Amino acid sequence: MTTSRPIRARIFRAALQHNYRVARRLAPAARAWAVIKANAYGHGQWRAVDALREEADGFAVLECENAAALREAGITQPILLLEGIFSARDARAVGEYGLTTVVHCLEQLALLLDSVKPGIPLAICLKLNTGMNRLGLNAVDLRRAREILAPLPNVDLTLMTHFAEADGERGVAEQLARFRKMAGDWRGAVSLANSAAILRHPQTHGDWVRPGIMLYGASPFADQSAAELGLQPAMALESEIIAVQQLTPGDRVGYGGTFVAAQPMRIGVVACGYADGYPRHAPSGTPIAVMGQRTRTIGRVSMDMLACDLTAIPEAGLGAPVTLWGNGLAGQVPADDVAAAAGTIAYELFCALAPRVPVDFVD
Ligand SMILES: *Cc1c(COP(=O)(O)O)cnc(C)c1O
Repeated sequence: MTTSRPIRARIFRAALQHNYRVARRLAPAARAWAVIKANAYGHGQWRAVDALREEADGFAVLECENAAALREAGITQPILLLEGIFSARDARAVGEYGLTTVVHCLEQLALLLDSVKPGIPLAICLKLNTGMNRLGLNAVDLRRAREILAPLPNVDLTLMTHFAEADGERGVAEQLARFRKMAGDWRGAVSLANSAAILRHPQTHGDWVRPGIMLYGASPFADQSAAELGLQPAMALESEIIAVQQLTPGDRVGYGGTFVAAQPMRIGVVACGYADGYPRHAPSGTPIAVMGQRTRTIGRVSMDMLACDLTAIPEAGLGAPVTLWGNGLAGQVPADDVAAAAGTIAYELFCALAPRVPVDFVD
């Protein structure tokens, strides 16, 4: 729906392509699944597919229905189901559409093999639990899975794991050591690296890397910015000033009156609130840009509006452009900075972009 309300998200095709190339360049010997789960982290699955369909080695999704839709849209590259199948119907679709599927437990393997016609080629990523304790086979179950699969013809096997702390101080050493121990004499393909591991831990690159957040131009690290990593923000969230208020000392702003003016101030009200996906927990002081200048939010974020300080931007009146995050017309505000102020990560901000926000796909 197009609306007159000024809020817009813009998604940049060139940034998605640039960021995918960064991942490829960092892991030149590996192929890269473009991870487009969660509606491409809020950017739009079909926009990401459209941007990357020529050059992506493969796409990784969560739901089998999305994988099937990609096939029906003519995507011929490998498509990975990141958590594997959830039902017998999914298992049949794996065979029918030639999907690559994670197998993370023996029950899931049994469901797959029971539901797929014998002899149909299967591409399986056996997921090992190397310490995250979320999904994955233990050493005993891995041995059993390999015994079950060994006699089957037409099975293309990859060993896979997922890192819990590739972005943090403990890094990947412990999980990588466990992976190597569990893999034993395995000489086939491996897939280990998420964005953080692609960027910081080249020893994990293996045969297939799995870039997610970096495709969208945000940083997986608290201590290194996306710009420092050479990434370009793929989403800009922008709006306008729809009202201006003059404050005198002691005046309060917004629900709860959490902000109190200490001196005379001029504030702007922006058409963007938590119902658009802006984090309600962003406190006063969260970065925002107006007419090319960085300023700060003021008071609590409401459902449809938030306020910002215009005291130092006297030229900004009604209709002045605002960048909530990304490289917008009104300035650059890293989504990572907004997320950090709100106690979350850019992943969550992007995924929370509300359906009511109109999106432009920019060539
Ligand atoms: C989401 C996901 C990724 C991508 O992680 P980023 O941190 O966004 O790069 C990689 N692998 C698996 C299994 C995932 O579920």
